[in-house]
Amino acid sequence: MSDPQPVYLSDYQPPAYQVTHTELTFDLDPAVTRVKARLLIERHAEAEASAPLVLNGEHLTLISLAIDDTPLAEAHYQLNDESLRIDNVPAAFSLESEVEIAPGSNTALEGLYQSNGMYCTQCEAEGFRRITFYPDRPDVMATFKVTVIGNATSEPVLLANGNPVDKGTLEGGRHFVTWEDPHPKPCYLFALVAGNLHKVEDHFVTMSGRDVSLQLWVEKENLDKTGHAMASLKRAMAWDEHTYGREYDLDLFMIVAVNDFNMGAMENKGLNIFNSAAVLTHPKTATDATFQNVEGIVAHEYFHNWSGNRVTCRDWFQLSLKEGFTVFRDQCFSADTNSAPVKRIQDVSFFCTAQFAEDAGPTAHPVRPDHFIEITNFYTLTIYEKGAEVVRMLCHLLGWEDFRRGADLYFDRFDGQAVTIEDFVGCMQEVSGADLQQFMRWYSQAGTPEIDARGEYDYVHSTYHLTLRQRTPVTPGQTDKLPLHIPVRMGLVGTKSGQDLALTLEGEKLGKDTVIHLREDEQTFVFTDVAEAPVPSLLRDFSAPVKLHFPYSREDLAFLLTYDSDGFNRWDAGQRLAMLALDDLIAAHRNGVEKVMDGRVVDAFRTLLTGQIDDKAVLAEMLTLPSEAYIAEQQPIVDVDAIHAAREFVRQSLAMELRDEFLATYQANCSDESYAPTPAQIAQRSLKNIALTYLMAVEDEQGVALCEAQFAADHNMTDVRHALTLLVHSDRDDLSTPALKAFGEKWAHDPLVMDQWFTIQVSRPQSDVLERVEYLMQHPAFSIQNPNKVRALVGAFAQNRVNFHRLDGKGYVLLADVVIKLNTLNPEIAARLITPLTRWQRFDEERQRLMREQLERIRKEPLSSNVFEVVEKALA
Ligand code: ZN
Repeated sequence: MSDPQPVYLSDYQPPAYQVTHTELTFDLDPAVTRVKARLLIERHAEAEASAPLVLNGEHLTLISLAIDDTPLAEAHYQLNDESLRIDNVPAAFSLESEVEIAPGSNTALEGLYQSNGMYCTQCEAEGFRRITFYPDRPDVMATFKVTVIGNATSEPVLLANGNPVDKGTLEGGRHFVTWEDPHPKPCYLFALVAGNLHKVEDHFVTMSGRDVSLQLWVEKENLDKTGHAMASLKRAMAWDEHTYGREYDLDLFMIVAVNDFNMGAMENKGLNIFNSAAVLTHPKTATDATFQNVEGIVAHEYFHNWSGNRVTCRDWFQLSLKEGFTVFRDQCFSADTNSAPVKRIQDVSFFCTAQFAEDAGPTAHPVRPDHFIEITNFYTLTIYEKGAEVVRMLCHLLGWEDFRRGADLYFDRFDGQAVTIEDFVGCMQEVSGADLQQFMRWYSQAGTPEIDARGEYDYVHSTYHLTLRQRTPVTPGQTDKLPLHIPVRMGLVGTKSGQDLALTLEGEKLGKDTVIHLREDEQTFVFTDVAEAPVPSLLRDFSAPVKLHFPYSREDLAFLLTYDSDGFNRWDAGQRLAMLALDDLIAAHRNGVEKVMDGRVVDAFRTLLTGQIDDKAVLAEMLTLPSEAYIAEQQPIVDVDAIHAAREFVRQSLAMELRDEFLATYQANCSDESYAPTPAQIAQRSLKNIALTYLMAVEDEQGVALCEAQFAADHNMTDVRHALTLLVHSDRDDLSTPALKAFGEKWAHDPLVMDQWFTIQVSRPQSDVLERVEYLMQHPAFSIQNPNKVRALVGAFAQNRVNFHRLDGKGYVLLADVVIKLNTLNPEIAARLITPLTRWQRFDEERQRLMREQLERIRKEPLSSNVFEVVEKALA
C-alpha cells in the first residue's frame, strides 16, 4: 500500500456539480442501516459537459444506483474504496442511491455511530462520506429533507436538522419522523440522533419577536444536569443579538448530549451534538471550571450558526475562518459574562503553554495551512486559538465600531455562501480603509514571532527610546520569514509617580495607553516629553500572539506588579518575576547547589495577600505559580525533574514564609452559601482553594485538617475535587487512599465524575503512577473506546511530566501501546494522543532516544492516515 498523499490549497477547483437538494431516508439498525439518498444535481455553468460526477464514499456497501430513476448498470460507474465516479451525466438530474452501513461497529465515531445504544452522527470534517455517496466538501450546499425510521421502543426519539414536518407508525414496531432544513448547508452540518432521550424545554424570543423553542436532549438520569447549559444558551442568543445583531433563524434549536464523542461539541444546523462532558453540570458533580467551560462551548456552537453555518468555509484550508472567528466571539462572550481580566489571563496562559509548544514543534503549521494529509489533524490550537488571536488583533487594529461594520458586511454579503479568509479580511479592509496586506502574513506564516525589546531613558532630553526587533523562527517547510504587522499595546509607567505617563510619539499626542505598530524587522520609537524615568509596560492585554523579551530587573517587575494600570500586565509581571526566581532554582538544582528562595518573590506575594486587590479571581491567578508545562516552554532544554523540584521549592517556601496570610485568606473566603456558578462565588472559591494549596504544601496538621474537613463537608464539586487532589497528591498514603476510595465508591455510577477520579490519581507526582495507569485501564469504569476515558486516564498521564518522562522510558512505551491500539479503533483520537511524544526535541539526549524509539515502533504498524501524518512529521 502506498503512503497517504497530501492535498494542497493551491489545487483548489470549484465543484463541477452542485447538489441543490438532498433527500435521505435512514432505516436504522446497528448492523445494517439502510440509507437511501435522492440528490438533485446540477452541473456548474462553467464546467465542461464531459466532466465526470465524482462522489466521496467510504465504508459503504452499495446496494443500488440510478439516475432519474433509471437503474445504472455496473459498467456505467467506477467504484473504489474512496469514491464513486459516473461519466456522461446530464446537466441536471437526480441521483438515487441505496447503501448499507454498520453504526453498531463504528468505533471511529465519524459518520453514523452508536453511543450507549443511541444513534448519533459526526460529519465534520469528512464524516458524511461514511453515510452515503456525496460530494463531501463544504462548498456544496443543499437543502435537506431527512426521514429517520427506528424502533418505537428503543428509539422513541428521532431527530435531524431543521423542523419536523411528518411522523407516523410503521409495521413491526417501527416508526418514522421526517425533518426539513430550509437553509442550504454543506453536508458536514448534517446531523441525526435517535434513541431513548428525554428533553428539557425552554424558549427564547428573538429581537424581531419570533418565539424559538429550545430543547436539550439527555438520558433520563441526566435531566437534573441541564439547567446551566440552557441558561448559557439563552445568554448566548441574547449576546449575539446585541453584540453582532445576529438572530437565530429556525423555530427550533436542539442540543443533544452523547457520551462517546471525539471533540467537545458540534454545531450541526439546528441540532448541536455535545460531548456530555461539555454540557452536563450539577453543583455536586461539576467544578466551577466545568461550569465555565460548558457556558463557553454552548455559546461557541451557537455562535457558529452565523460564523460557520450561514457563512461557511469554501474548503478545509479555511477552517480558521469559522473557528478562529467563533473562538474570538465565545471569548468575548465569556469575558462579558464573567471576570474579563481573569478570562484573558486564563486564555493567554493556556495559549502561551500549549499553542507556543505546538508552534515550536514538528507539527507547526500556519493559521491557514497550505497542505494536509488528514484534516482532522488540523483541529488544532493554532487554527482555533491563534486564529482567534489574529481576529482579536484585527478588532484592535480597526477598533470595535469598524470591526462590527466589517462583520456586518461579511455576514450580509456572504450569507448562504462558502468563502475564504480573504473574503473576511477583505470586508474588514473595505469598511475601515486600513491596509491589511502585510497583516495577511499572520495567516500564512507559522511559528511564534519573538520580539526583543530594549528601552533607554534620556534624562537630559526627557525622551524614551524604545527599540523593538522581531524575528520568526524557522518552522518545518518554512525557512524564510517576513516581518509581520504586530500591534503592541503599551504604556510608560513613571517610576516616581507610579502613574501611566502621557505619550508623545513623533510630535503626536497619544494618550497614556496606546498601540504602536511594528512592521519592520527593527524599529525605534522615540517618545518625547517623558517627565520621569519610566518602566515600559508592553504588549498589554497580550495584544499580539508573540514572545516578548525585555531585560526587566526584578525591581522593575515588582514595580509593575503593583503599579501597572493594565490588570493583565500586572499578572504578567508577577509571572515573569516568579520565572526569574524559578530559573535560578532550576540552575541550582542541576548544579547540586543549595536552593535559596528569592525574598523579592516572597515580598511580592505578601503585598498581594495583604494588599487591596478587589478582584479575588485576579488575585487567585496572581498567586498561582506558572505551571510545569509553562516553565518548560521557557527552557532551552527541558529538565523535568529540576523544573518540578524548583516549583515545589517555591511553593513550600511561600507556604512557610506566608503561612498566617494564607490561613487568613482561607478563612476569610470560606462560605456556606448554597452553590451558584456566579463570578463572585467562583472568585471566592478560587482564592480560598489557592490558599489551601499553599497550606497543604508543607502537610502540617492544620493544613491537613482543613483539607480533610473541606473534603468531608461535601459542599460542592469544586471544593471537594480541590481538596481530594491535594490529599491524593500529598506524600501521605493515609490521606490519599481512604479519600480516593470514598470518592470512587460514591461516584461509581457517574461516568463524568469517574473521569475526574481517574485524572486526579494519575496526575500525582509520586512514582507509583505508571502502575496505577496500567491497573486503572482494567477498571470497569474505563473503556478504550470512549474518548473521554482515554483523555482522563492516558491523556492526563502523558501530562504528568515527572512520571510520563521517567528515565526508564516506560511512560513512553505505555503511551505508544495505547496509540497502536487506538490506531485501528479511533484514528482521530490516536493521532491526538501522540502529541507529547512529538515534542522529543525539547528533552535531553537519553529521553530523545527513548521517545524516538517509540515513534519508530508506531511507524512500523500499518497506520491510519491520521497517525501516519503525525508520526512522519515527528520523525522528519
Ligand atoms: Zn468551532
